[in-house]
Amino acid sequence: MDERSQDLLDRVQKAARQMGGAAAGAAQLAGKKTAALLSAGKLGLQARDLEAQTAARLQEVGEMLYATHCGDPAPAGALLEKLEEIDALRARSARIAAQIAQLQGGRACPHCGAPARADDQFCRGCGRRLT
Ligand SMILES: [Zn+2]
Repeated sequence: MDERSQDLLDRVQKAARQMGGAAAGAAQLAGKKTAALLSAGKLGLQARDLEAQTAARLQEVGEMLYATHCGDPAPAGALLEKLEEIDALRARSARIAAQIAQLQGGRACPHCGAPARADDQFCRGCGRRLT
């Protein structure tokens, strides 16, 4: 092979490697975005499950309070236990909402999960300081 042909071949091979690298990079990025969307989707399902569990506990608390009103007082320990379960469920919901926001490229309150703007100092949902 003459020198010119060899040079041309080298340049074609180099360009092909660069294009291959760019395509691989784009595929990797697309893969990461897809993985993030899938994770956000799974977290969304968890969030809905937690919401349903929280709603069920709130209904139980309501029934306990109404029973108390009707003269059949619920044991204070049982009521407190339900309220603490609700606290725990809401804390888990906030963490999941924050993870979803992070996966979607946004920012969220670590306390309540409300979406936050990049320059917010305090949460628009709960008013607590954003870290
Ligand atoms: Zn908040």
